[in-house]
Amino acid sequence: MKKIIERIAERPAQPGMVGDGFRVYNFIPRANISQRRMSPFLMLDFGAEFNFSPTEKLRGVDVHPHKGFETVTIAYKGSVAHHDSTGNSGIINPGDVQWMTAGAGILHKEYHEKEYSKKGGPFEMVQLWVNLPKKDKATAPHYQPITADKMGKVELPGNSGVVNVIAGDYNGVKGPAFTYSPVNLFDFKLNKDGEATFSIPAAHNTALLIVNGNIDVNGTKAGEHSFVLFKNDGEEIHIKADENAVVLLLSGEPINEPIASYGPFVMNTQEEIYEAIEEFQNGKYGVLD
Ligand code: MN
Repeated sequence: MKKIIERIAERPAQPGMVGDGFRVYNFIPRANISQRRMSPFLMLDFGAEFNFSPTEKLRGVDVHPHKGFETVTIAYKGSVAHHDSTGNSGIINPGDVQWMTAGAGILHKEYHEKEYSKKGGPFEMVQLWVNLPKKDKATAPHYQPITADKMGKVELPGNSGVVNVIAGDYNGVKGPAFTYSPVNLFDFKLNKDGEATFSIPAAHNTALLIVNGNIDVNGTKAGEHSFVLFKNDGEEIHIKADENAVVLLLSGEPINEPIASYGPFVMNTQEEIYEAIEEFQNGKYGVLD
């Protein structure tokens, strides 16, 4: 049975700036897609393609904390660099994903990679926040660098395109990301007139972000930069691309636990939020220059 579209959210009129490097359209929660509705996904910021001018300065977000969930950064164009208080650092280039588990608490900074910054040019990315079940919120912070060559890859029949499986399973091909609750994250590219079919459990909260191109989803048109939210009903999603298209499919089994969210901290109770703020103020998340 086909999944029914609940709503197509158009790109918000204005982007917001995260630091001075990430010019993003926020869909979760600000396009009326609440953290509970899209659980386990707590936030989706879409940095639609934007041309940054060359600079010697590092654009981005300086040192800040996170606790209780995971940040997932997908680079489509341009390069993102990262450092955190556990000593991890890395650069993600187009096609790469950085999956950071903040867990018990971490400090990090995120910015445009130096060589990209010097040249400037198109920059396109997504940042997703994925909640952790209560039992895993205190897990030690860690980091999964998932380069493009590590993705599960499925070539679609008839030169339709390719599905890069970041997390979960597509037609028996698994993604490299370890997740704490069932999640599918598929980055797929379709050629003009290319088609793809997905079967996603009805119970999963499921959506598409149309990064590039215009597509047809189960018989309904969805435009570039829109966000397609499905009802929790039916399994099948059939997509046909009107032109070359790039789409992100996200689905996950809802974590049915209370959400207490305050800026970079997402816990289960308000008391735990106060604790997180206090831990941060007392330097419990380590040191990062
Ligand atoms: Mn961050």
